Amino acid sequence: MSNDWLSCSRCGKSYEVSVGQSSKRGILRWSASLVCRSCDEQQELDGVGLPPPELRSTIVAREGVRVLTVEPGADTISALRVLQEILYLSDDAVTSLARNLHGAVLAGTPYEIEWLLGVLRSRGISASSAAEGGSGESRAVDLAAIVPEDWADKWMPSSD
Ligand SMILES: [Zn+2]
Repeated sequence: MSNDWLSCSRCGKSYEVSVGQSSKRGILRWSASLVCRSCDEQQELDGVGLPPPELRSTIVAREGVRVLTVEPGADTISALRVLQEILYLSDDAVTSLARNLHGAVLAGTPYEIEWLLGVLRSRGISASSAAEGGSGESRAVDLAAIVPEDWADKWMPSSD
């Protein structure tokens, strides 16, 4: 996909984009509607996993970035295991997260971080979230930079 799918397929003007995220049975999903104000052309898109970068950036522009923090008292081995399991992280990715586990670990859209929080808490791991850019420097890794490219595909075989 290239940037030109953010331009109207009929008249070439920029689409007005709105993107939403949701989850169903633990699977993260996104949906977007693209509307051209010049000619009323409309498109609906959706998918599993993280939205494509061009669409995800419109969420970040509107809602900002949140960061996930695993609480100091939490079982760090279990926390890493859960993150690896749900995000299908490589061993290298897990190692780099482990170095920074006591602090803001992962960054994403507000919905993505709430979704991760829900998963961690359902496994008994205490974690919290905050807006990025609060006190102190953030070494949180963007979710999009750490999940494998075929992350979403790995979910599909088990869905209905
Ligand atoms: Zn148009």
